Amino acid sequence: MITHYKNGVCYTLTASREFVREFYTENGKIIALGPQSIQSDKVVDLQGGILYPGWVDAHLHIAGYGERLTLTNLNKLTDKNLILSTIKKAFHGQPLYVQGYHDIGLTKIDLDAISSSQPILIRHADYHSATVNSVLLNRIGLTESNGILHELDAAKAVFAMPRHSNQTLTTMITNAIESLHAYGITGGHSDDLHYFNGFKDTVEAFEEALKRKPFRAHLLMHHEEVQGFIQSGRPWLDQSPYLQLGAVKIFYDGTLSSQTALMAHAYPKQSHQGELIRPPEAFENVLKTMRSHRLPVALHTIGDLALEEVSKWLKKYPPHEGQHDRIIHASFAMKATLEYLNKLPVILDIQPQFLSSDLPWGYALLPEQTELIYPWKTYQQHGLILCGGSDAPVEPPNPLKGVIAAVFRTSDHDGKTYGEDECLSIEEAIHLYTDWANIPTYKTHERGQLKPGYIADFTVFNVDFYAEPKRIYDAHVTMTIVDDQIVYLKK
Ligand SMILES: [Zn+2]
Repeated sequence: MITHYKNGVCYTLTASREFVREFYTENGKIIALGPQSIQSDKVVDLQGGILYPGWVDAHLHIAGYGERLTLTNLNKLTDKNLILSTIKKAFHGQPLYVQGYHDIGLTKIDLDAISSSQPILIRHADYHSATVNSVLLNRIGLTESNGILHELDAAKAVFAMPRHSNQTLTTMITNAIESLHAYGITGGHSDDLHYFNGFKDTVEAFEEALKRKPFRAHLLMHHEEVQGFIQSGRPWLDQSPYLQLGAVKIFYDGTLSSQTALMAHAYPKQSHQGELIRPPEAFENVLKTMRSHRLPVALHTIGDLALEEVSKWLKKYPPHEGQHDRIIHASFAMKATLEYLNKLPVILDIQPQFLSSDLPWGYALLPEQTELIYPWKTYQQHGLILCGGSDAPVEPPNPLKGVIAAVFRTSDHDGKTYGEDECLSIEEAIHLYTDWANIPTYKTHERGQLKPGYIADFTVFNVDFYAEPKRIYDAHVTMTIVDDQIVYLKK
């Protein structure tokens, strides 16, 4: 089956701003660029659209995003009667999990009236609290509580809820992929294998969802799931043309918003510098174990001291020949760290949207001595490989918002630019979500460019960002193609 894609501006990403107006594919692979005398079975008229190799989100949580899309969400509701009737409607005699609740004082008494036999958990919008019914309180031994739980108690309640059925999990993943297609995303590197149904069931749910929606899923393996991976007998990396198993996710430090990211200086008005998720000896053990299994790692690293320490660990225990590790976030850095970080086989997974969401209020949380804040240009000038992601559901998985944040560094809160000398060019920002985002898949010989032999995954926009960079603010995806199949078409 030969397809002729025509009437577009199709950027190859092989040379700077090089494009063709038409090209041909056969059974999911590009066979020729430019005008050819090839007999095609099918024509895709791009109608003047701007086509790129398929865009990739290099760090997100697909099942987590799908959960947000799929489950009942109370977001924006403030009326008690409306909230209760929404919960009642969502209850079908099964354990009920509802999210996005803004606390208006519901207690176990309200929820017991909906069910006194099945557990009900209403997750608050901040994810740190929950309101639950008496069934669930009994299960976790907090019978005296009024049902409003915070932090550890809330986490206990979440943990005590029955897990999603694999059917629900598959639906959540399917819904997430459908939404990603509409954002022009053809592939994503997802961290989900520990938070839902464990390694085996979650991988199988992905396989089922990928039969329904073609997508290039690359799954990070949480270190506590590596035993499940080994027992499965699956190979590392390629499972199918749509599914890969990737590096091992390990949390190194905390977050900025909770001031638990490990910083080189104390937080303002605090005597602490953040924290490690586990003691150094325990981290070293996990890292050594992963190396013994010949696996690269993907380390959640936010603070500047965390980045410094992680660089030293990765230098001490390098990945196996031909592999590279990943550092997820790398939000803050000390200048001195860069001199040896760039000598390691490591990729930085950055989330440009964090800047737009977190600044300027983030400055008030950061130690004032922090040298480098979202220093993407500096990283790039030091020769580090950068990939772009959204961390959805933390941020919406809209790569155009990521490109805007990387290029203009404007805050969503006040519209001002922060750290102008760290702005990436529009070309660099597009690389973050296209060819560079394929480096962690070890498939750059067939993904991320328009070239004969490369896969037929494409994203088409209505605006040429090189010609009209400012129009990116109201640009949209007109068509998304995965494996030669049109998976999204704007009406
Ligand atoms: Zn994440």
